[in-house]
Amino acid sequence: YKAKQMHIGWHLFDELNIQDYKNRLSLRSELNDALLERQIKLHYQPKLALQTSDIVGVEALARWHHPQKGILSPFHFIELIEQSGRVQEFGRYIIRLAIEQLAQWKELGITMPIAVNLSPYNLLDLELVDFIQQLLNKYDVSANQLEIELTENETSLNIDIISVQLEKLSKIGVILAIDDFGTGMSSLAYIANLNVNVIKIDRAFIIDILTNRKHKAIVAATIRLSQALNCKMVAEGIEDEEQLLLLMKMGCEFGQGYYFSKPIPIQEMTEQLNNTIQA
Ligand code: C2E
Ligand code: MG
Ligand code: MG
Ligand code: MG
Repeated sequence: YKAKQMHIGWHLFDELNIQDYKNRLSLRSELNDALLERQIKLHYQPKLALQTSDIVGVEALARWHHPQKGILSPFHFIELIEQSGRVQEFGRYIIRLAIEQLAQWKELGITMPIAVNLSPYNLLDLELVDFIQQLLNKYDVSANQLEIELTENETSLNIDIISVQLEKLSKIGVILAIDDFGTGMSSLAYIANLNVNVIKIDRAFIIDILTNRKHKAIVAATIRLSQALNCKMVAEGIEDEEQLLLLMKMGCEFGQGYYFSKPIPIQEMTEQLNNTIQA
């Protein structure tokens, strides 16, 4: 009986894997069109000053508007992009979309910084900084309107190259954020060596901050760390009022999360920003 159960188990497992594999294969072949036809778009989640509820920036999150499969989250395609060796191309694509959006907002009289997510692999692109500078010049957008969120889970990369690149970005005025702080192995080394402007503490510490004393202590320590280093600190993944109130009481200045808003398409974001300006 046990053997049979296990057999059924494996059988199901294989079927799922094959389906998953087929999905990935078909997505991979569609990646070209996705980039060429700009099917991958940016959705935007506001970042707020907790005391005033003012929107102080937005994070751009990639969504694939697939012609048949609907809207796909990064979970379905970021890995694919990494495996197909197109990380640098994708990074530039996202940055271009964000800077074009900044330019469009500027025309509408909206000034709101956009944060984009980059993989550390993007920083191995030695012409990236020039690319960014040229786009900023072309659209007459100032560099401090662009923020780069870097997740530093990849510890095998050459930190010297990454440091030099980040220093260059910092020099031209781009804002640097460490994303998912607390989950990577080398967060502190990064922060000690680099000109980091923003620390975003990972959602994993916020989700149970009311019940998990250790997580609460880590958040408290990160708030003090960011104050001591003159960084802004953002709490990711605020989902309810209790979390918000506790974070405010602890002295956390900025936050993001479903409690305020999920990531929304550009039209909605622009409308919302227009309304706040008029209000
Ligand atoms: P991230 O940069 O840490 O982004 C935060 C993720 O948490 C987003 O998921 C966001 O939708 C989600 N989130 C925000 N608030 C809440 C909340 O209150 N509760 C919960 N449960 N989730 C919340 P998303 O959009 O699926 O993105 C996942 C990750 O994919 C991002 O994590 C980022 O690392 C990566 N990613 C997204 N867009 C890009 C991109 O354009 N380029 C690269 N390289 N990576 C990207
Ligand atoms: Mg991010
Ligand atoms: Mg994050
Ligand atoms: Mg993340």
